[in-house]
Amino acid sequence: MNSCSSISAKLLRPLRWGLWLGIFLAVCVPLVALGAANPVSRGFQISTLDALSAGVFEGAMSFRELRQYGNFGLGTFAGLDGEMIGLDNRFYQVKHDGAVFPVSDQSQTPFAVVTQFKPTQKILLPGTFTYTELQTALDQKLPSLNYPYALKIHGQFPQLELRSVPGQVPPYPTLGAVVKQQTVFNFQQVSATLVGFRLPQNMQGINAAGYHFHGLTQDKKGGGHLLAGIFRNPIVQVQLIQDWHTSFPDTAAFAQSPAPIP
Ligand SMILES: [Zn+2]
Repeated sequence: MNSCSSISAKLLRPLRWGLWLGIFLAVCVPLVALGAANPVSRGFQISTLDALSAGVFEGAMSFRELRQYGNFGLGTFAGLDGEMIGLDNRFYQVKHDGAVFPVSDQSQTPFAVVTQFKPTQKILLPGTFTYTELQTALDQKLPSLNYPYALKIHGQFPQLELRSVPGQVPPYPTLGAVVKQQTVFNFQQVSATLVGFRLPQNMQGINAAGYHFHGLTQDKKGGGHLLAGIFRNPIVQVQLIQDWHTSFPDTAAFAQSPAPIP
């Protein structure tokens, strides 16, 4: 009995090693392949905030092309015709009157920021926060303030103050002049998703340093650029971004845009 079992153990040993090798290959090879196919996350922007601030509202890229760089983000439309939200692989336009429309591939953007959103961290913030308090709390939780981050907050908000801006015709005014004509939408107890970025100080000018969110209500009937809000126990999905690609528009409007006033 003993000798018989020792013979079968000897016979089984190579089989067992084969089994372990099979398990190793089945588990580890796909993980390595996944790592290779999923390198550092990238942010992409068309044009610069300085150019937009100076009134360069001419379309610089179609949404068909923008989509190749990301399915998540924010921006605006040719002529500064409202606020753009990129969420779940779709782009939305919030017009000055608050109406929300799906964006066609042919539509053009003068300025947009996108990424392929793959959150790597979840920050839970127990308590109630204003937008300013939320920014302070997030700054304390993020691993470093020297990287860009893509951020998503989905939930029920006691209050959200969002805005949109009216479309312009050439000769374009400055962004600041248009923002004075903004319409503010006040939402109470609203289910919504905020799509945004926190960018480091070293990106000021190219983009806006700090937090920038655009919101879309769950029913997709309202949205805009976030001005203020009340956040209760927010859960913030975070993606650290290591690569940033800025595409400078190949347009006369951008080429001739005035330098920003320091
Ligand atoms: Zn905005």
